[in-house]
Order: sequence, then C-alpha cells, then structure tokens
Amino acid sequence: MVAALARASYRTRHRVCPACGRDNAAVDPGPYSKGEWQVKTCRGCGFVYLENAPVYDDLATTHAWEKSAPAEGALRRAESPVLQGLSKGTRFRLHWFKRTRLAKLAARYVPPGLVVDVGCGDGWQIANLPGDYVRCGIEISQDMAARARANLEPRGGFVVTAPAAEGLRSVPAGRFSGVVMRSFLEHDSEPRATLAGVARALRPGGAAIIKVPNYASLNRLAMGKRWCGFRWPDHVNYFTPRSLARMVRNEGLVVARFGLVDHLPTSDNMWMVAGKPVAGKPVAGRP
Ligand SMILES: [Zn+2]
Repeated sequence: MVAALARASYRTRHRVCPACGRDNAAVDPGPYSKGEWQVKTCRGCGFVYLENAPVYDDLATTHAWEKSAPAEGALRRAESPVLQGLSKGTRFRLHWFKRTRLAKLAARYVPPGLVVDVGCGDGWQIANLPGDYVRCGIEISQDMAARARANLEPRGGFVVTAPAAEGLRSVPAGRFSGVVMRSFLEHDSEPRATLAGVARALRPGGAAIIKVPNYASLNRLAMGKRWCGFRWPDHVNYFTPRSLARMVRNEGLVVARFGLVDHLPTSDNMWMVAGKPVAGKPVAGRP
C-alpha cells in the first residue's frame, strides 16, 4: 500500500542555512532525516532545516500542497495507524482552537484595512476571518490560487500567484494592515526574504500573525521522528521560539507579542505577532 502511494520524484535544490547563510554541505545529515531528505543542524547558528528542498516551480503544479497533503496523510496512516488515529482527534480539537485564536489576535493587533494571507490556499481562512478587512492572498499553487480568486475578488481583494517572497515584493509597499502566515513559514524555502517582504508590505502599525510548529516542544523530544511537526519534504524550516524571534527581528520587524503562553513547550505549535513599528515605537495591541 505504501509503495502504491509513493510520490513522483522531486527536483531539489541545495539550501544553505536559511537563518545565517552558512553552507552545511559537509555536515552529516541529522537524526531527523528520512530517505533522501536531509535534515541538517546548522554548525553556525543551530537552526534545523531541510537542506535539499523541492524547487518552487514544482510546488506550483506537480507537488502542490493540496496534492501532496492527502498522500502524506495516507502514508502516515499506513505507517502508524494507531498514532495517526490519535493525532487526528487532537488535530480536530486544535483546529477549532486555532481559528478562534487567529481571529482573536487579528481583532487585537490588526487594524482595519488590507490584509494578505500568505499561502492562502483556496482563500477560506482569510475569507472567514472576522473584521473590517479587504482580504487578499498569495498562493504558489495555480489551482488553489484560482479558487482563492473566485472567493476573494468579488469582495474586493486580489490574489497573487507566486512564491511568498516574490508575491510580497509585488504588492504595494507600506499598505497592508495585516499579514497572516498560519502554518506557512515552515514550508518556505526563503523565510528571511519572505519576512523582509512582510516588513515591506506592512504599513506602520500593521502586524503579522505567524503560526509555526515549535521544534523546541516537549512532544518533539518525546516522539522523536514521529513528531507531528516533521513532514518530508513539505516542512523545510524547524523553528524554535528563539530562532523565530531572531529571524523576525533581523528582517526589520518587532516582536509585538510572543509570551510564554504563545510558545508553551507543551504545545506542538507557537503563535507570534510581529509588527511594523510606528516611528520606532513597538506595536501595541488595540484595547
Ligand atoms: Zn545557521
């Protein structure tokens, strides 16, 4: 069954450390590598990442997420039916919680105006976000972008079909009240360029809501390679609270909210609000 579900082969490209730029080609693959997928720990800064990532052109069509995700789920069920069954139940509950949390964070930190969902899929997430927003999206998959366009354009928004960094560079600078990156940055081969694009796109006082798996979670330590945050080759960056905060700051954003409750070691995920300061002052939540 597993063999029948095997994917077509990927074209890959070599990545240097996406956090500090060091080339770790000479470093042995770490214990979280799988098959051809080499997960490395940077010798320079300690960041954990997939060194051979699929090329973007393939993500636009052949290996678009909406095609690979069902295959991944089927593979996981075949490999570990009991664990996957438990995880599915947990995911259902977390799903409800996550949507509520995104809406709450947006209501508090994102002023009315233009909001863009990076990796918007078919646009359902941004379409359902409560608030007085003009909803836009950036999506690499051509099929999903077409669906997002059908969802968002009638409401006045627009959708860019491009990798995140390229899409963010193409939108008007300094115009967006908010950026949503929920379960996105772990997929992005160029997270620094994307965060720089976020800093460019946001207007002063605007904020980005970021949710990524927490590599520093206790569950990762306990589950090892079976941790739900590992997905080969879909996840290419494994952030800790420290590395996420450092990267956000390095690209010109400020950390507006990232308390312990947002990155509990008992949670598999973490949430951050990163803002663009007004005249050098940190972003503050609205009362
Ligand atoms: Zn590094």
